[in-house]
Amino acid sequence: MKVAFHTLGCKVNQYETEAIRHQFANAGHEIVKEDDFANVYIINTCTVTNLADRKSRQFIRKSKKINPEAIVAVTGCYAQMKPWEVAEIDGVEIVIGTDEKNNLLKKVEEYFETGDKASVIKDYSQLTEYEDLGVIEAMESKSRAFVKIQEGCNRFCSYCIIPYARGKVRSRDRKDILEEARLLVGKGHKEIVLTGINTALYGEEKGDLKIVELLKELDEIPGDFRVRLSSLEPTVIDAKYVKKLFGCRRLCHHLHLSVQSGSDKVLAEMNRGYSRKDYLEIVEVLREHDFLYGITTDIIVGFPGETEEDFSDSLDIVEKAGFSKVHAFKYSRRTGTLAASRDDQISGVIKNDRVHQLMNMAEKAREEFNAKSIGKSTRALIEQIENGFAAGYTDNYTKVYIDCEEKNFKLNEFYSVKLIGNYKDGMMAEVEK
Ligand code: SF4
Repeated sequence: MKVAFHTLGCKVNQYETEAIRHQFANAGHEIVKEDDFANVYIINTCTVTNLADRKSRQFIRKSKKINPEAIVAVTGCYAQMKPWEVAEIDGVEIVIGTDEKNNLLKKVEEYFETGDKASVIKDYSQLTEYEDLGVIEAMESKSRAFVKIQEGCNRFCSYCIIPYARGKVRSRDRKDILEEARLLVGKGHKEIVLTGINTALYGEEKGDLKIVELLKELDEIPGDFRVRLSSLEPTVIDAKYVKKLFGCRRLCHHLHLSVQSGSDKVLAEMNRGYSRKDYLEIVEVLREHDFLYGITTDIIVGFPGETEEDFSDSLDIVEKAGFSKVHAFKYSRRTGTLAASRDDQISGVIKNDRVHQLMNMAEKAREEFNAKSIGKSTRALIEQIENGFAAGYTDNYTKVYIDCEEKNFKLNEFYSVKLIGNYKDGMMAEVEK
């Protein structure tokens, strides 16, 4: 069979698609690109916002247009939360929840033999065991490789549907994580990105946070590679805990710390469990350690009841924290969450206006952060060579562009560079002699 995959949403989904892709390839099926003609289309969906649901539906329909005879199998968070809605889409034969991805191959092969449609969705209360999807030996991307370390979240932020879609906190076996990282480094990957639904909670169900211990074990793997955390929730870690990370030598000087709002009132209503002061203390500790520590974040605008004053606190925290990148989201009402039932929802017009203001402030913060980096020397991992530029990321997650006339660049290689100025969504750099 020719099998094509499409992934929506987060890095966990990207990792899981990769694992399923391996299972199909190992079973002898031919893997083709997502827009190519295939006998099977596997769509790994997302439900974090209404827009994610809509995009998931669009991709399901698009696949059927490429080959109306193809089998369409849908998995991921949208399939978990609204399996009936997915099953009603014309041409969907298989619906698999977030905890049953190991069933995809079997169900697709069975459908070819029997023509039996399948729907395998566990109830939220049954999402308690880590589903082992096997150890991946190489990723599609040559440089960055994702390694999943945990599943689920038990924080129940009042706007977030993810704990219902992903279930309880459960951590992957440490041996499997280390083996996968070792294999990926051995295959030439230069950056290991640890992913999870809430990576900070790794090991918590066994009584303690274990992320630092894991990072120290990754330090021991031989090879020239670095480690990045896809995100770290300030709902779990604080300034004191963050200091422990400084002993992990391969860990990039970059953290994605979702602040979500700069207003204490909104943070409390979101059930985030920290204040803006707590958050800014983490920022201070990181910047004391390295004044160019890259801090990226997510901010939601238009949470129910968000006043102009609350919103200006969010603008203010962008400036104070000096984020190098902000992902700005308009609040999206997710049925079943506490915030969705509130009657003080914010209008779309206000949300649009606030998201634009926030993006402008974020751009200003990024330029200011970059200005502090001018003249600094660092290493960049080249991930792309096109239009006369080699592009990649530094350790602190600044995107750099280098003129190809400078050198015959190779993909997936580290280069020592000097940062010379703002450019597009990152900085222009030159190779150090
Ligand atoms: S910490 Fe909050 S926002 Fe993050 S996944 Fe858990 S519930 Fe959702």
